[in-house]
Amino acid sequence: MVDLISKKIRGFRDILPEESKKFLFLEEKIHKICSLFNANQIRLPALESLNLFKRSIGESSDIVKKEMYSFNDKNDETVCLIPEGTAPCMRLAFENNLIYDRGVKKNRFYYYTSMFRHERPQKGRYRQFTQFGVEFMGDDSIYGDIDLLLLSKMFFEQIKLDKLKLNINSLGLIEDRNKYSQDLQSYFNNYSNSFNDQQKNTIKTNPLRILDSKDQKLIEIVKDAPNISDYINKVSSDKFNNIIQILEDLNIDYIVNNKLVRGLDYYNDLVFEWKTDQLGTQDAICAGGRYDSLSNIIGNQYVPAVGFAMGIDRVVDLITYHDTDLVIGLSVISDSQSDILKISSFIRSVGDKFRLIQMDADKSLTKQIKTAVKSNCDILVIVGSEEMSNNTLTIKDLKSDKDDRSIGLDDFSKFIEEY
Ligand code: ATP
Ligand code: MG
Repeated sequence: MVDLISKKIRGFRDILPEESKKFLFLEEKIHKICSLFNANQIRLPALESLNLFKRSIGESSDIVKKEMYSFNDKNDETVCLIPEGTAPCMRLAFENNLIYDRGVKKNRFYYYTSMFRHERPQKGRYRQFTQFGVEFMGDDSIYGDIDLLLLSKMFFEQIKLDKLKLNINSLGLIEDRNKYSQDLQSYFNNYSNSFNDQQKNTIKTNPLRILDSKDQKLIEIVKDAPNISDYINKVSSDKFNNIIQILEDLNIDYIVNNKLVRGLDYYNDLVFEWKTDQLGTQDAICAGGRYDSLSNIIGNQYVPAVGFAMGIDRVVDLITYHDTDLVIGLSVISDSQSDILKISSFIRSVGDKFRLIQMDADKSLTKQIKTAVKSNCDILVIVGSEEMSNNTLTIKDLKSDKDDRSIGLDDFSKFIEEY
């Protein structure tokens, strides 16, 4: 190991080329699918005022309690690296008048960016991770909810992740939840011997958080806890039943999971999660729901909204991806550096769906061929003095026994397209 002046910081990770390709593959799919759903990309600042999160996410959430990268900057402003995108997105929409764009109160946004949370690092849980988030603003209908679910579903289909389970639940309105919270508290108090001090504190401040605990002992207790479905108001419950009916009509698999709550305070009505059973306890891939009241906290106006955030690092761990780009090796047998440059420029000019690897001109042709094979080239383009004088290229297939072929420069573009 080299003697480095500094190593990467705990909980942060280097993403190397092979893995990086998967991120890019996913990002390209994201742009295409979002445009099919008329969602527009925004780029969020990495720093926001700490207050934005404290007030919106809720003081009792894990994020605000213990996971924020917050500090005072040189002007003594209390700032924070963004731990999530919904509050910043809402802030951005208000600050730039986007929700009132052209008299239409609706706007659909998406982002693909790094988030920062100071949590205990483990597989699938990093201190900097990438989230793809979508937020539909100004939309209070369940058709917005459904469209959002369809967007996430289409994404998973396109990247061929078919083992995910869609969990849904309704949290009703805040009043329903307050009543439920109280009863949940009383229920948990019957088992107070089973809880540690921190859990006891959570029961006091936000008992719903116990429901998604990963502690085996608590999971047992939670099994018989009261269900939120018995507490939600009629309108919310009708909405939820309608959503279920539409999912049935569209043949979309789902599980009603009455114990699904979100860690953040601002949700109402629909909440959902796409879960996997392949990543151990880091099982949530995508989580979201409706947050009609967040706008009142952030901008003091009513803008109903629904959205989700997806953990791209976890998606990357689940997908199988094969790089399908054509790999072209190039051997130019010439002492003239400018000949070599001219030919490589020509090849790059005919397309952008391949990777070009220039062989080392100092080596013998035999050595260059060996290197091309080792570098996983599909073909090797050989240019010697003969090719140079009659404007041709010799193509050597490295992955089949085809004979070498000579093709004219003018035909090269067609050759690549058809390869
Ligand atoms: P978890 O229960 O796994 O801590 P969460 O409820 O804190 O998740 P959200 O705030 O809903 O997560 O974020 C949405 C998604 O972002 C998660 O479902 C997950 O896929 C991903 N995610 C959250 N925290 C991390 C992290 N520290 N590292 C990698 N991905 C993460
Ligand atoms: Mg978390």
